[in-house]
Amino acid sequence: MSPLIPTTAEQVKLYCAQIGKDPLLTQGAGGNVSWKDGNILWIKASGTWLADADKKDIFIPVDLPHLRQEMTQKNFSVTPKVVGDSTLRPSIETMLHALMPHKVVVHLHAVEILAYLVRANPLADLPPLIGDTVKWVLVDYFKPGAELAQAVSEHIADNPSVNVIFLRNHGLVVGADSIAKVKQIIEDLILTFNSNKGKSLPKQEASFMPKEVDGYVYFQNDALHELARNIEYFNCLKTKWALYPDHIVFLGPAAYVYKSYDEFMRTRVTMNELPEVIFIYGEGVYVLPAFSKAKAEQLLCYYEILRRQQTLSQLRSLSDAQVLELIDWDAEKYRQQHKP
Ligand SMILES: [Zn+2]
Repeated sequence: MSPLIPTTAEQVKLYCAQIGKDPLLTQGAGGNVSWKDGNILWIKASGTWLADADKKDIFIPVDLPHLRQEMTQKNFSVTPKVVGDSTLRPSIETMLHALMPHKVVVHLHAVEILAYLVRANPLADLPPLIGDTVKWVLVDYFKPGAELAQAVSEHIADNPSVNVIFLRNHGLVVGADSIAKVKQIIEDLILTFNSNKGKSLPKQEASFMPKEVDGYVYFQNDALHELARNIEYFNCLKTKWALYPDHIVFLGPAAYVYKSYDEFMRTRVTMNELPEVIFIYGEGVYVLPAFSKAKAEQLLCYYEILRRQQTLSQLRSLSDAQVLELIDWDAEKYRQQHKP
C-alpha cells in the first residue's frame, strides 16, 4: 500500500490520540475505539489511554466470528479470544463494539453530551438532533460489560439503522464505515449539545486564601474549588455523587465532605487512612500528593458536568445497588491496577 494513503489503523490511531488529549471528550483510560478488518476486531486494551494511541500499542486483535457466534446464543459475557500473544486484556466493552455492524465504532464519555444523559428526563432536554445523518436511540443505564451489551443489542435488533447510541448515566457510542464519518458525527453532536450552555458561576475573589491542610495539597485548578465553595455543588457531592460509572470506579462510592476545616480536623484523628480527596466547605478541594492524573481528570469531568446543569435537582444518580456492583467489579479492578 502506498505510504501516502493512511490505513484504517493509522487513521484510527491518529484520531484517538487527538480526542485523547481533550478532557471534554476523554478522561484518562475512559472511552474505547474499535475497527473491524475481516475476521478481526481491533479493540482498545483495558486500562490503556486513547491519548497514547500514537505512541504505544493500545489496540489488540480479537476473533470477531467467535464473538458474533456467542451473540447469536445471547451470550454477552463471553471472554474474547485474543489473536496472537498480547498479554493485554481487551476492553470490557468489546462485545458492545462487536455487536455494532459498523466498521469503526467509538465510545466516549463526552462531557457536553453526558451532561444531558445524567438528567432524570434526558429526552425532554435533548436538543433537536442533526436531521437524517443520525439515527439514534437512548438506552437506559446498565452495568458496563455484558448487561450493557445485551441492552444495546436489543435496541439494534429493533432499529438496525441506528448509528448513534446515547447511554443514560454513561456516554455515547457512534458507528460508521470510516473514522472520518465517525469524527464528523461526533463533532456535529458536540456542536449541537454545546449550544445549550450551563450557568456561569460567580468568580472566586482573588484575595481568598484557603486554609492549609497538613498532608494534602490544594487541588491545582481554581475553578474546581467551586465544588466545595458553592453550597449547591457542595450538596450535590453528598446527594448526586454517583452520576456515571467511571466517576465511581476512579473516585469511590461516596465523597468525603466536611462542613468546615474544624470538622475535618476532628474527624481526621479517628481515621486509619486518609481519603485521597476531601471537600471542605468554604475552603476547597484537597488531594493527597499521590492523587493520580486519571483521578484528577475524573474529578474535573464531574465538575464540568455539574457546571452544565441549569438545575442540579434534575440530575439522576445511580442507585446504591448500581454503585455497589461497580465497585465490586473484577474487570474494573484490573483496569484500575493497569492504569499508567
Ligand atoms: Zn464507557
